[in-house]
Amino acid sequence: MDNPAHPSRRTWQHGGVTAATHSSLFPQVPETADAVLSGLDPEQREVATSLHGPVCVLAGAGTGKTRAITHRIAYGVRAGILQPASVLAVTFTNRAAGEMRGRLRQLGAGGVQARTFHSAALRQLQYFWPKAVGGELPRLLERKVQLVAESAARCRIRLDRNELRDVTGEIEWAKVTQTVPADYPAAVAKSHRDAPRDPAEIGQVYAMYEQLKRDRSAMDFEDVLLLTVGILQDRHDIADQVRRQYQHFVVDEYQDVSPLQQRLLELWLGDRDSLCVVGDASQTIYSFTGATPDHLLDFRTRHPDATVVKLVRDYRSTPQVVHLANGLLAQARGRAAEHRLELVSQRDAGPEPAYAEYADEPSEAEGTARRIRELIDAGVPAGEIAVLYRVNAQSEVYEQALADAGVPYQLRGAERFFERAEVREAGVALRGAARAGSNDSLLDDAEGLASQVRAVLSTKGWTTEPPAGSGSVRDRWESLAALVRLAEDFARVRPAASLADLVAELDERAAAQHAPTVQGVTLASLHSAKGLEWDAVFLVGLTEGMMPITYAKTDEQVEEERRLLYVGVTRARVHLCLSWALSRSPGGRASRRPSRFLSGLRPGSAAPGRRSAGAAGGVERGGGRRRRRGPVLCRVCGKTLTDAGEMKLMRCEDCPSDMDEGLYERLREWRSGQARELGQPAYCVFTDKTLMAIAEAVPGSEGELASISGVGGRKLDRFGADVLAICAGEELETVEDGD
Ligand code: ATP
Ligand code: MG
Repeated sequence: MDNPAHPSRRTWQHGGVTAATHSSLFPQVPETADAVLSGLDPEQREVATSLHGPVCVLAGAGTGKTRAITHRIAYGVRAGILQPASVLAVTFTNRAAGEMRGRLRQLGAGGVQARTFHSAALRQLQYFWPKAVGGELPRLLERKVQLVAESAARCRIRLDRNELRDVTGEIEWAKVTQTVPADYPAAVAKSHRDAPRDPAEIGQVYAMYEQLKRDRSAMDFEDVLLLTVGILQDRHDIADQVRRQYQHFVVDEYQDVSPLQQRLLELWLGDRDSLCVVGDASQTIYSFTGATPDHLLDFRTRHPDATVVKLVRDYRSTPQVVHLANGLLAQARGRAAEHRLELVSQRDAGPEPAYAEYADEPSEAEGTARRIRELIDAGVPAGEIAVLYRVNAQSEVYEQALADAGVPYQLRGAERFFERAEVREAGVALRGAARAGSNDSLLDDAEGLASQVRAVLSTKGWTTEPPAGSGSVRDRWESLAALVRLAEDFARVRPAASLADLVAELDERAAAQHAPTVQGVTLASLHSAKGLEWDAVFLVGLTEGMMPITYAKTDEQVEEERRLLYVGVTRARVHLCLSWALSRSPGGRASRRPSRFLSGLRPGSAAPGRRSAGAAGGVERGGGRRRRRGPVLCRVCGKTLTDAGEMKLMRCEDCPSDMDEGLYERLREWRSGQARELGQPAYCVFTDKTLMAIAEAVPGSEGELASISGVGGRKLDRFGADVLAICAGEELETVEDGD
């Protein structure tokens, strides 16, 4: 689950957020409250105009739930019915909260708070802690696993990596269900949970974990909610103060609310009823953490006077994508499934979803990258494409493949952009430069502002080319590059703007948490893709064991996996590609099978219950164009390579390199020129690993060059002659510097 934002201000209410400030970078703000309603269908309008009493919106993916509640808040504010400061909108991730603030700002209701449960609670906790408890607020633990491992060791209980993950999950579940360590074993028995170890042992580890945490004056994410709930329960004066501030509550993705979040919501609400919840039970994907769609499905029972609205028109996806989504849900079982809503697409027809089977994972990644390249060449912006996978560890091979295909990508979402350390540091530096001000000679430049920003940020680590590889250095660079792009856009729209104007714009955006849009293909886990949408979505790694994931054992767990796939499918507006690989590494045994959830849906597969009959007719077999290759062996020690980076190098990372350093440098220099000319990051020409492999192999012919991983047909056509010439020691004409 997403981390809460760390509020930078001392106040928990409103601190400095200016209402409805619109910058020229944003589209036109609707002129009247009624204008806010145009662009909503009749049911959405009913949601937007039902401003009194409890409201519940039950609707499927892409039907405009988030849009309806955003417009509802904006309409209420613009019509003067809701005070912006009295509204608290709660969404599921920081990214979603940031997006909602952006949308509210565009609708002229920028002063409204949109937060996650965690960040809203943390803000209140920081503000009220001195009064309620006194002393320092405990330090927030970013991750539990380490402390859980230490607790287990102290209890002399050995946990392997998987058990550690599962036991950590159990502790989280116990906390959100407000179960104390001593009650854990009984709670497990009562809820028929399948505990990963003896519940008594887990109870012991949990107790030790709580003890260590207290001793070290730390708190975890659940504590943020538990402590806030505790304070609001015990201190009526504080609860009253919070209730005076917030009078209207809106909750998005309500199907995934945990019992603890629900308790907090009730405390915020008190005996009032201005609560609007929206959700889709078929998208419940966090029940493993204790969340349950029951609160959504039973809303009418708890609030008999509630206005209940259903939306069925799907505005997001084509009929082809919607057909697959409906088909997936038709096979679902359980309570959420009983409440499923058949979606009806409002869009024109588009391409059929594509299915692709590959021999191995690197081929799947390469094939995916190739299709992405084709889409980009056909005009789909890279930022409108996503690759979604089940677990984060799957990203690496896609990072490599996209880099090889010359496709820019971004690994993390736009959440918390202005709170990243590098962005804050950059802000300080820009502010300093703005104060130093007018004596900067760069201002005379045609592109004064943008180059000034580039100059300042280069002191913070920004370079024209991204650093090699992924990881934190790369993340830092991506943030700075996003700021540079933001400055360039700003300078384009406001040619006369100064650095001080830009700093003011950044402040305003930071206050509204409106991160700049990131260019490049998104690589994200299915869980983190919730609520988002792209023109083209690639659902990769859809094999048994990944989807459903191996550790989904009970029927309920398998159903949750199916819903997760449903969430993935419904992220696509037009293009959808589902793929899987039959083995992990090249030359490995083809022991994997496509996900059972696709049975009966992908062409040529048998309906669920019957075993699919061999090769799937109609399913494109990807990787056919790829050279058949056996396992890749290290050319120094002969070991079989499985790591994507090492396979690219064709040797183990720590085996000695026989690289010609001079050649490598010449290749890098040539690459910089190409990158500049193409206006693309250098890794889009060749990655460092590929250049290294070239400098080690020193290919003398096209055939030899083509056998190096990362040198596909396109790159061979484009760069082959240059690279071979450099390898042969020829001097190339230097590329004119475009800047
Ligand atoms: P999810 O369940 O995935 O969170 P959602 O129900 O919240 O989906 P939104 O994200 O609000 O759906 O809307 C999906 C897409 O449809 C968005 O691009 C939105 O702008 C568009 N949309 C929603 N309602 C309308 C409408 N009445 N007219 C045109 N476009 C609409
Ligand atoms: Mg939504």
